[in-house]
Order: sequence, then C-alpha cells, then structure tokens
Amino acid sequence: MTVVELVERKRDGGRLTPAEWRALMSGYAAGDVPDYQVAALAMAVYFRGMDDEETEALMTAMLESGRRLELSHLTMPRIDKHSTGGVGDKVSIILAPLVAACGIAVPMMSGRGLGHTGGTLDKLESIPGFRTRLTLEEAAAQVGRIGCALIGQTREIAPADRRFYALRDATATVEAIPLIAASIMSKKLAEGLTGLVLDVKTGAGAFMPRLEDAFKLARTMIALGEKHGCPTVALLTDMDAPLGEACGNALEVEESVHVLRGEGPADLREVTLALATEMLLLGGAPGVGQARETAEHALASGAALRKFREIVQAQGGHPGVIDNPVAHLPRAPLRERFEAPRGGFVQRIEPRIVGRAITTLGGGRTRVEDEVDPAVGFVLKLRPGAPVRPGDALATIHARDEATLALAREALARAFVIGDEAPAPRPLVSHRVTARGVEELPGPLQIGDP
Ligand code: URA
Repeated sequence: MTVVELVERKRDGGRLTPAEWRALMSGYAAGDVPDYQVAALAMAVYFRGMDDEETEALMTAMLESGRRLELSHLTMPRIDKHSTGGVGDKVSIILAPLVAACGIAVPMMSGRGLGHTGGTLDKLESIPGFRTRLTLEEAAAQVGRIGCALIGQTREIAPADRRFYALRDATATVEAIPLIAASIMSKKLAEGLTGLVLDVKTGAGAFMPRLEDAFKLARTMIALGEKHGCPTVALLTDMDAPLGEACGNALEVEESVHVLRGEGPADLREVTLALATEMLLLGGAPGVGQARETAEHALASGAALRKFREIVQAQGGHPGVIDNPVAHLPRAPLRERFEAPRGGFVQRIEPRIVGRAITTLGGGRTRVEDEVDPAVGFVLKLRPGAPVRPGDALATIHARDEATLALAREALARAFVIGDEAPAPRPLVSHRVTARGVEELPGPLQIGDP
C-alpha cells in the first residue's frame, strides 16, 4: 500500500488500520514520508474525522515513535496534569510542587506559549538560571530524588507528534478533536504515569471555546488514557477571562509564589486546589474531603513552597525568587496604571485580546522560534463582576518601551468591557468528566461574584 493510497482512502471517508498508522508515523518521524503527503492526510482527517479506534491507533503510533520516561521503579503514584491552555494559566507552577509535597511523583512535561496562550516553560525560564531542558535520565533521577521535575518535551518523546503538530500548525489542521487528543495523549502517556488529570478550558480564551467541543475533547482524551491503563479525569474550567491577576511570564511566577505562600487570587487558588484534589484522588486518597484537606494543608503549612524551592534549586534556578520575587525576577522598565474610562461594572475581560497584547509587548510568540521578553505583561486589578468608578485602576501595564506601551494601552481599552449591569456569574470549575460520565459541579466560586 503506498502513502498516496492511504491518503486517498482517508479522503474518501475510509479508515487506516493500526499497522498503517504505525508505518506512516514511524516513516514520518524518520523523514521517509514527505510533509506534503502528511499535510494532505491531516486535511482529510480534518474533514472526515476519526472514530475512537482510529484515534487510538494514531496516538499509539506517535507514542511508539519515541522513548518514554522510565519511572516504573518508583513505588509512589505518578500523576500529571495537562491544561488545554489559556491566558494567565500558571496553575502548573503551583500544582506540581503542591502535589509532590503530598507524596505523589509529578513528572510534569509542559509546553511553550504560542498564539494568545502562554506556556509554562517560558514562565519558568524567567527564573534566573532555571533549566527546563533536562534529559529523560536527568528528569527521571530528579523525580526519584525530590518527587517532581518541570521539563519540556525532549526530542525523544513522541517525535512523530513533534513533526506532525508543527505541520498541522502550518496547514490549518490543528483544530480537529481526534488529532488534538492523539497529539496531547501521545506525550502524556510517554511520561509513565499511573494517572492523569486534564484541565479542559472553556470560554472565549480557550482552545475549544464551545462547551460541547470541550466535552468531546475531554471524552476522547479520557478514552485514550483508560485504554492505555492510565486512569484519566477531566475538569472543565473557565477561560472566559484570564485566570488570576498576572498575565506575562515573570509576573505569573511572582503570582504563583504568592499562592504557594497561601495568598494570591481566589480563582487561581480554587482551580489549583480542584485539580490537586483530583490528582490526590487518583493517587489513592480515600475521598474528596480528605484529598482537598491534604492539598489545602500543603499550602497552609508551607510544604508546597518548600517543595518549589527544592525544584528551583535542583533545576539551577535562583532560590531568591521564592523569598523575594520582585528583587530576583526580571522587571520591565516602564509601568503604567490603566484607568477605567467610565463607571459601572466590569462585564468582561476579553482573554484573547489580553493574550495577544502580551505578544505585542514582546512576552509571547507568533512563531515557535521567537524569543520572549520575560518581564512584560499586565496585572489586572479588577475582575468581571467588580463595581468600578471612573478613574479606578483596572490594570498595571509592564512594558519595555513607549511604542509597545501605547499598543498595550489600546488593547486593554478593548479588552475591558464596562457596562451598567453586573454580568451573570459563571462557574469557575463547571464539570467533572470521567470514563463513567459527567458530573455538574456546584463549585464554591463563580466568576462574577463580587
Ligand atoms: N497541544 C498539543 O500538544 N497538540 C495539539 O494538537 C494541540 C494542542
């Protein structure tokens, strides 16, 4: 069977067998199958879709194109979290040490920012000296020693996905649920996990803004995890506004340290604790109440902050960032208060506008190879639902120069929507999805609560 015949079959609505996906993906990773044929195949999948079995065949083929993190000698549970991404989402930086402080091994492999969304690796690299490019052997040794490593996808992990994802990005074929699910899970299952929690974002700033697509993505990824013996749970969380107050790499590390100290914005703390509770349940905690209490205690006792210090030191970062983030993280030379033009209520803060404005300031990427400025970004002072008077501070802009400051000012004027009425509250953590079904969560905190 030639590659062109496989493309033809997919184009006409047929399916490829597991052996065919394996041959294609190993050939692609080795450079034997050209980009143009795989691009045509991706477009055929985009329009024709794939059922669960075929999605699993693609995922397995990409997973098996590379190596895995070897952690099976560890006796403790090995649990990670994956977020579908958003603006101000610095949860991983708090969650990984928090859960590791509770006795779970967390081999966390994260990504870089692209488009309007930020990336955990860029945020961590704003810590002077912090090294995210560990080898698989270094990462495994660190997880064994201190229970956690915060690393990037190495060249050995799912190399077929690495090539395929970059190709999809350049051919407008990223937004196909089976392709996204297979791509994410091929990397996560290479971490040698005993459980995985997914943070699937919904709302205007999410990769999948519509709730029904978020459900579909969650269910597809859960099915892949379970099929491979990795119990997988998803929480659907809100990304209709940026999460927390800080948006921008170093600013988000500073805010993460605040939450690790038991302070920080309530929405960020709540999403982190909800995900930590699920990770502890997968790790064997006897019930939701106990898991939540353990997670809260790790924050309140300082154990999570101490674990973060261990991780920063193990990966070459300056530990002063934990004691005095402002003194040790990069700072932008220009800071400006952004004021409300009128009174009323903050109705919306458009996350995509804020995310793109970070890129305009130099803090994000439009291409994978772009450098990021760690210091720039925003600190939002008011959240959706807050009453506001004319001249109140809505945000502080942190900029490198006058030209980008002016553009950021203009972007914030579009991002903040102020109206006469308070907006309807939105649940922050709306649903829990497992292999058994969907639960709607009452949730203690709503976006739009005063
Ligand atoms: N993130 C990934 O790793 N892959 C996708 O396809 C989309 C988001």
